[in-house]
Amino acid sequence: MPQEIKNLKRLSFLARVLNPDFWQTLIWWQFAGRAPQILALDAGINPFCPEPIRPQRSHDEIGGLDQAWHQLRIVRRAKSHDCCGPICTGFYNADLAQVFDICIRGGGIVGRTLALLLARERLRVALVEQAQRLPGSDLSVSGDVRAYALNARSRTLLESLRCWPDAESATEVLAMEVKGDDGGAVNFSATELKVPGLTWIVDVPALEARLAEAVRFQPLIELMTTAPTAALTVICEGRSSSTRAEFGIDFDVTPYPQTAIAARLQCEKPHAQTAFQWFIQDEILAFLPIDGSDGKSVAIVWSVLRERVPALLAQSAQDFCQQLEAASHEQLGKLELTSSRSAWPLQSAHATRWVGRHAQGAWALAGDAAHNVHPLAGQGLNLGLSDVAALADTLGQREYWRSVDDEKLLRRYERSRKSEVAVMDATMDALQRLFSQHSASWQAVRNWGMNGFERSGVLKLWVARQAMGC
Ligand SMILES: Cc1cc2nc3c(=O)[nH]c(=O)nc-3n(C[C@H](O)[C@H](O)[C@H](O)COP(=O)(O)OP(=O)(O)OC[C@H]3O[C@@H](n4cnc5c(N)ncnc54)[C@H](O)[C@@H]3O)c2cc1C
Repeated sequence: MPQEIKNLKRLSFLARVLNPDFWQTLIWWQFAGRAPQILALDAGINPFCPEPIRPQRSHDEIGGLDQAWHQLRIVRRAKSHDCCGPICTGFYNADLAQVFDICIRGGGIVGRTLALLLARERLRVALVEQAQRLPGSDLSVSGDVRAYALNARSRTLLESLRCWPDAESATEVLAMEVKGDDGGAVNFSATELKVPGLTWIVDVPALEARLAEAVRFQPLIELMTTAPTAALTVICEGRSSSTRAEFGIDFDVTPYPQTAIAARLQCEKPHAQTAFQWFIQDEILAFLPIDGSDGKSVAIVWSVLRERVPALLAQSAQDFCQQLEAASHEQLGKLELTSSRSAWPLQSAHATRWVGRHAQGAWALAGDAAHNVHPLAGQGLNLGLSDVAALADTLGQREYWRSVDDEKLLRRYERSRKSEVAVMDATMDALQRLFSQHSASWQAVRNWGMNGFERSGVLKLWVARQAMGC
């Protein structure tokens, strides 16, 4: 290996360890008395050009040693010229001048979280979102009536980005009561499991607002409406991703016969930070406590057969609430509808490949663009956040000679996530199918199973810990 490259490797590594900030690295290198061509290599620009030096790519973002060596040879050739003009032309390296390391398509919760994680790794990110949903515009916060159950792992991740909402928008769940359709019951309690909270019910618009604000103030993230070229494109466009289709990525979809209706209710009785769930043949109803510890409000997710949906959405608020009171056995007393009702067709889906290469560069999938699971255990976004945590970790921890579009690196990410998602999807699917069986014998089996699970001790503890992300 040529001596210059050896030196370059050492300096790059040392500079990265000492201080990864570009300008400081530049200054440090000047102190180290490096030749100007090495400075140029780091900056990706011509040191002889009279134009003021602007950062293009920092030392740890140069796309691999080959590229660096190629650049070094160009610099050497350029040095033999006398005037600046031709040197500038000969110097330009389109790859190095490319502004973004990573383009994220889709600025939902998963996309925004990934952008913040990558910016923390000092990667330059283009975040592409539909114009009306860009942070700062009127619809940057969706007005979604849902509230998500987020586990401890998701909470830690969002807290590390300072995006975890205030306590009144993230209600801690202390107990969970799950009831079958023939006397079966499973209960979880934070005290029994020796954890502060089983999960947190997070107001979706509040979380979106926190992420939008953080993105707006992060200088390494640029918000855009059209996708620029970048070494790596991460597709976070949700279940109906058009880029996934454009790149020809297979997405296996199995629709469920149910659609979920989401809404918010004011209850007669306080929820006491307890989440309730009723499995009723073909239907699943969940009451998720919101509005903090003293609240009387719940967000509901009611999975019903899709034929029933038009009538349930069209009927008066009073009739709708009466149906919910009956389905919930008036657990929280009289109910009052406080939001609009929205409907979400349900499906199980997964992409056959999570990473690959396209004419425009490497790509990776994350969040709902990669997988959809039944929301009965509130795990979809938790999985999506684990995807982006794993991807950011893989890219951040990469060996210094690997670029962000390195195939081995991306496969590492795919391997680290695919199995967990497959297990979760299979579990949700099996539960959904078990509770869709109509015969009396199946009904007896599932309720017997629930009671057996309730008494199972270690198994129950293990399942609870998986769901809690511990
Ligand atoms: C009823 C229901 C309840 C749920 N409850 C829970 C729960 O309690 N806990 C939980 O963890 N999960 C839950 N989920 C799952 C959760 O909603 C999803 O997993 C999560 O929203 C996925 O986030 P995402 O960012 O990947 O996709 P999305 O939220 O779909 O975001 C995609 C983003 O991409 C943008 N976009 C789309 N196309 C383009 C394009 N062509 N160009 C640019 N931008 C584009 C969209 O505008 C959007 O901002 C629930 C799901 C449902 C249906």
